[in-house]
Amino acid sequence: MSANPPDLRPDLARARVTEEARPGQPRIGMVSLGCPKALVDSERILTRLRAEGYAISPDYAGAEAVIVNTCGFLDSAKAESLEAIGEALEANGKVIVTGCLGAEPDYITGAHPKVLAVTGPHQYEQVLDAVHSAVPPDPDPFVDLLPPQGVKLTPRHYSYLKISEGCNHACKFCIIPDMRGKLQSRPARAILREAEKLVEAGVKEILVISQDTSAYGTDWKDREQKFPILDLSRDLSTIGARIRLHYVYPYPHVRDLVPLMAEAGPGLLPYLDVPFQHAHPDTLRRMARPAAASRTLEEIAAWRAAFPSLALRSTFIVGYPGETEAEFQTLLDWLDEAQLDRVGCFQYENVAGARSNALPDHVPDEVKEERFHRFMEKAQAISAAKLAAKVGQRIEVIVDAVDTEGATCRTRADAPEIDGNLFIDEAFETLAPGDILTVEVEEASEYDLWGRPV
Ligand code: SF4
Repeated sequence: MSANPPDLRPDLARARVTEEARPGQPRIGMVSLGCPKALVDSERILTRLRAEGYAISPDYAGAEAVIVNTCGFLDSAKAESLEAIGEALEANGKVIVTGCLGAEPDYITGAHPKVLAVTGPHQYEQVLDAVHSAVPPDPDPFVDLLPPQGVKLTPRHYSYLKISEGCNHACKFCIIPDMRGKLQSRPARAILREAEKLVEAGVKEILVISQDTSAYGTDWKDREQKFPILDLSRDLSTIGARIRLHYVYPYPHVRDLVPLMAEAGPGLLPYLDVPFQHAHPDTLRRMARPAAASRTLEEIAAWRAAFPSLALRSTFIVGYPGETEAEFQTLLDWLDEAQLDRVGCFQYENVAGARSNALPDHVPDEVKEERFHRFMEKAQAISAAKLAAKVGQRIEVIVDAVDTEGATCRTRADAPEIDGNLFIDEAFETLAPGDILTVEVEEASEYDLWGRPV
């Protein structure tokens, strides 16, 4: 369980590239910060660079220039991005900045005037232009073949799949629509082709991401279906991999998604990552959240009626401006009722440019902190009880990693990086990442499980 939602957590993901560069091959380094959506951008840039004959260097010393893909969602993420740029400048000297923070070039060049170029999110061509001028390409058509799945920064057996860019909402605490623009959904054909390529390359689990997955396709004026996410999910569910949906807003049509979920094997996983953010209608209104008026407990009950073992994950903000003790208490009571499987929580903080900064009645830091701990205590108790109920059950897991101590796996109810794990400490020697097997659960803690293969 994370203290901050994953898309607010600037994780440092360095390229996992093990191939040796050939003599004379131009080499580029990449530091990728931010959310899974930014990771997909990094993967696309690396894929293009590999196709053009560049080698990807896993360290600064071996690189002739370094791309830093930045995150700019929270002020703390911005600071982390500036720090990463500074580190790359010091260690390498030739730095190209891209990503969300690239939407504010003056902010970057003010702190680091020596960067070679600054480009915004999704400006792949401009990044490549900047790379070409810093380090000219030298392609060799006989050896510079792309691996079929492109260059992955995530482990090979799972992959993120971005289905749209931007967002049509205007949540007051969020500046993503300013940075990334309005919703632009990718054509379903292109998404399915990308998913097929991933499956052909050995990917077993596809994590569908966007800012607002339920709204996929609603930006198409001439669409045949009112909610194209339903058709897309149905098509993806037949592709031969486990499909996990993230950032699903609780609109009424989500009720039609749940029956598409599969009990076992590949298909749509019985898992929804729904960013509720709060439960009190007044707080949600002050946040200007999409679906703020929906009766979320009723929606959850309807989803669970259709698929009882559905796993629900969500993220919440505590200490939002104007949040009263009574509003916060409503959130705690709501958690008791909702019985979510996984939750993340973060304390509200101002973000430069966000409209929530100007709201009255900001909550003092010590109150935010206190509410955060009360929230996490409640969430932990719910999680512990839910996991304890799994002891003795036989469940399917996918192996993420194996070392000398054991195998780290995930159940169908757990997304990588953000949810819990199931650990196997015995009879794991023959297992490999990507294996899917059945285990009997033997032990549970607040967030993780332990089991043995059966
Ligand atoms: S739905 Fe709200 S929080 Fe999510 S990207 Fe859009 S504006 Fe930001």
